[in-house]
Formats: sequence, C-alpha cells, structure tokens
Amino acid sequence: MSIPTTMKAVVVEQTGGPEVLQFQTSYPVPTPKNGELLVSNGISGVNYIDTYFRTGLYASPKPEVLGREGAGIVKAIGPNVSGFQVGDRVAWLTTGGYAEYTAVPADRTVHIPDGVSDETCMSAFLSGLTVLSFVKETYAVQKGDWVLVHAAAGGAGFLMTQILKSIGAKVIGTAGGPEKCALVKGLGADVVIDYRSEEGKKWVKKVKEATDGRGVDVVYDSVGKDTWEGSLEAVKRKGTIVWFGNASGPVPPIPLPKLSPKCVKIARPTLFGYIETREEFEFYTNELFQLLSSGELKTKVHKVYPLEEVAQAHIDLEGRKTTGKLLLKP
Ligand code: NDP
Repeated sequence: MSIPTTMKAVVVEQTGGPEVLQFQTSYPVPTPKNGELLVSNGISGVNYIDTYFRTGLYASPKPEVLGREGAGIVKAIGPNVSGFQVGDRVAWLTTGGYAEYTAVPADRTVHIPDGVSDETCMSAFLSGLTVLSFVKETYAVQKGDWVLVHAAAGGAGFLMTQILKSIGAKVIGTAGGPEKCALVKGLGADVVIDYRSEEGKKWVKKVKEATDGRGVDVVYDSVGKDTWEGSLEAVKRKGTIVWFGNASGPVPPIPLPKLSPKCVKIARPTLFGYIETREEFEFYTNELFQLLSSGELKTKVHKVYPLEEVAQAHIDLEGRKTTGKLLLKP
C-alpha cells in the first residue's frame, strides 16, 4: 500500500491542560531523513512524561506531536540505514507517537521478536526499560533488600514490583485506593499501603514498622512533591532514594545538609541516560523481550484509547484513575 501524504495526528501548539491536545486529520506524513525509518504505528504508549511536555514542566519545541514510543511496521527507509527492511515489525523510542506515522532514528528502533505482540511490547517498553535500568544501575537491588515503591499500581510501578520480587527483594508498595492495593498485593508485594486512606497517610510509620525501625534500603519515588519528605524519613541510614518522576509535582530543591544525618544517597535518573548507546539500548531491550517472551514479566493494559480520545487518556492518567499502561490506537 502506498504511503499517504497526510495522516491523523495529535498536535500541541502551546502548553496547557488536556484541551491543548488537538486531533488533526490532515497532518503531513513525515519523510524519513538520514538514518531514519518511517514507521506506521499499530499502537503507541501514553506515558506520564507526555503530560510534562504538554504542560511545559519539561521544555520541548512546539508545535509538537507528543508520544515517546510506538510499535508498528517499517514503511520507508531513509538514506544510510542498515539492519532494517520495509515490512519489519519494530518498536521505537523517540518522539511523535501520537500519530499514524512517525519518522524515527533507526538507532532508536529495535525489531520486536515473534511471540511478543505490539500491544504487549508497548505495555512494557518505555516503562520496562526504565525499571530494568533503574534497579540495575541507579541502585543495584540485591536479594533481601527492603524496597519502597510509590505508585506501585501504575505503568512503571506494576512492572517494578514484579522485577523487584524476581530479584528477591522485599517490596513495600504504595497505591491509592483498595483496588490498586489489591492489584499490587497480587504481584507479590510484601507490604501494601493505601497512602490515600486516613490510616495510610501514616505510611512512613508503617514502613518503619515493617522494617523493624530501620527503614528501607532504597526508595523508588516517582510521585515527587507529595512524597519526597516521607521518602527521606522512610529510607534507612546509608540508604538510597531514587527520585525519578513528578506525578504530584517536582521535588523542590533540597538543602544538602538534609542528607547528612543518615548519610543518604540520592539519585535523579532518566531512562534515556542509560540507553544512550546502541549497545546499552540493545542490552535492555533484549532483557525486556526475554522477560516478555518467557512470560516471566506480566503486563497490564488499563485501556487502549483511540487517537482522537488522547485528551481523555491524559485526564484519566493525571486523575489517578488508571492502573498499568495506557495505550493509543492511531
Ligand atoms: P503511572 O501510570 O504510574 O501514573 C502515575 C501514578 O502516580 C498515578 O496513577 C497515581 O497512582 C500516582 N500519583 C500520586 N500522586 C499523584 C498526583 N498528585 N497526580 C497524579 N498521579 C499521582 O505513570 P507512568 O507509569 O507513565 O510513570 C510513572 C512515573 O515514573 C511518572 O512520575 C513518570 O514521570 C516516571 N517515569 C520516569 C522516567 C525517567 O526516565 N525518569 C521514565 C518513565 C517514567 P496512585 O493513585 O496509586 O497514587
């Protein structure tokens, strides 16, 4: 089938609320440039980071087609690309996934193995690579470590809880509401705290109780503004806090002396910093695909939204209404 000149896409011209996500039906189909592939997206991921680019919390040039990841079929190949052919089934990580077609750098693209569907791949691609690199490199989680994971029922948290259990860590997961907590418990978390309930608001005390007063070896905190102080209390002496997201707003600047009494280490990683080289990207994608192919890592799709309903996807995500991953059908 020939490639059309225009397509459906969601464009953000200025920062703001979900209403700035404009669904367009005649957006130009990009032409792959040097080193790029043109991919027809069968499915794309919606990630919390998309909301940061939408609101302007993270700067990016506008107008912009959001969407950090997609899976689909290679339709055209730009100059100086090797290793890919038209018709290949691939997944990519860059930007522009809220569209039928995306021109993506070949070095940010991998083949999806047979046995892993596009949907399964997308339900764990950006989120799963994040989790795998953060539990290996930001802090090397060991068997027996006590680990606190906030938002454990979310896209990243759902995968992180499983990966940590497979390493042999003891997991304390927080989540908002009984249904989310039941989901996290079902993943094998040792302790689950509903941090939105009256009782659960004392989550620091509960973490201390669960760890015999010591605190956890490491906290993975993607909630940010609402949890950072508690995370600092809940971590053990010589422990590590990994702040990696801003679901409730960013962590404010912290005076360094706050870290001294317990000799706490802090990290503020980004996935893209761990997969910058082709070798690193393939290392983690191979590990992820192996876990998905073998069924060791389970995925959960909250909902597949039609492209034109992406604003609702953002509303649901920011409204804390979702569990697992949100996907888009371009
Ligand atoms: P999630 O599906 O986890 O959604 C965010 C969750 O955060 C919500 O479901 C909610 O769960 C919780 N939350 C707590 N407070 C709030 C609040 N005030 N408003 C909204 N949500 C809140 O999203 P993702 O899996 O896409 O991302 C998870 C986090 O990981 C994000 O912060 C994201 O930025 C970060 N991330 C960072 C990466 C990096 O490279 N640094 C890469 C990938 C993700 P609950 O109701 O249970 O509280």
